[in-house]
Amino acid sequence: MFDSKMLTSFVIKSSLCKYSNMKIGNEATYLLAPLNVSDLSSIIIEANAQDLKIVPVGGGSNILFGNVGNRVIILDAYLPEIFIVNDKIVTVSSNMKISSFIDKAMQHGLGGLEFISGIPAHIGGAIHMNAGAFEKCIFDYISWIEYVDLEGKLKKINRKDLEFGYRTTSIKGFIVKAAFILDRKTKEKILADKEDIISKRFERHPYDYPSLGSTFKNPKGKFAGQLIEECGLKGLQIGGAQISEKHANFIINKGSATFNDVTELIKIVQKTVKKQKGIELELEIKVIN
Ligand SMILES: Cc1cc2nc3c(=O)[nH]c(=O)nc-3n(C[C@H](O)[C@H](O)[C@H](O)COP(=O)(O)OP(=O)(O)OC[C@H]3O[C@@H](n4cnc5c(N)ncnc54)[C@H](O)[C@@H]3O)c2cc1C
Repeated sequence: MFDSKMLTSFVIKSSLCKYSNMKIGNEATYLLAPLNVSDLSSIIIEANAQDLKIVPVGGGSNILFGNVGNRVIILDAYLPEIFIVNDKIVTVSSNMKISSFIDKAMQHGLGGLEFISGIPAHIGGAIHMNAGAFEKCIFDYISWIEYVDLEGKLKKINRKDLEFGYRTTSIKGFIVKAAFILDRKTKEKILADKEDIISKRFERHPYDYPSLGSTFKNPKGKFAGQLIEECGLKGLQIGGAQISEKHANFIINKGSATFNDVTELIKIVQKTVKKQKGIELELEIKVIN
């Protein structure tokens, strides 16, 4: 069994609700926050030995927690924070918030990732999801990634050896560090680009309620939000969960949403879009249940 002495890590007795941007979740049997990479490896080795699945958690901006059973939920929050600049190459720990990374890099006259400004994600989660917006993705800037694999071994992989696509990557394990090759830009230009992106997001997305961003992936050549809107589902509410009036691909928590409210809405959307448009919408968010 996992305990704090064995792993010298934090074992947290707290609701998962705190670790998902959707503000939904119950207490987990195993919620761990390793203090260093060696602890992280030990946790993964132990999970493996007990045949338990691990779930890395970064910013929690794309995870919906249901009944997580005996999955081992591992937070990146207490791992050491790293930020090293060498010319245009910036090495950063996975637990750094995107916003902090952009701001820190800006102090060195380095930019490029402004297109994901305003996403409440961590670097590791953004890499795992290959986060993107405005026709760019985070992998455009990656040089290499360090991760602990599913056997607990620390590995480094170069971009050329990685497969990545629309919100997917081939990495299996817990990302701990990555190097980015950024662009030389003035602070003024970075700030202006960042503010422009953030204001576009605030205009289009429902930032006033908890959400997980886009619920569904865009099918080839189409926009999931548009399809959902055309099916007349905007504003549909079940319990405390609602298909946002502002952007139909966002499900928002109006205050008291439960896991079942959200998954019920997901099922209705998938069924309706399939029936009316003949298109299967694939989930972008990660449902842990
Ligand atoms: C308001 C809002 C706007 C958004 N806009 C966008 C957008 O424009 N573009 C976009 O792509 N996404 C967007 N998202 C979704 C989300 O921010 C991204 O998917 C982001 O990449 C998730 O990062 P995270 O750190 O929050 O990951 P989490 O939600 O913590 O985890 C997401 C997945 O990554 C895995 N993971 C997390 N950390 C690690 C790690 N260190 N190593 C390995 N796996 C890990 C988790 O197990 C899970 O499968 C938005 C979300 C919100 C709430």
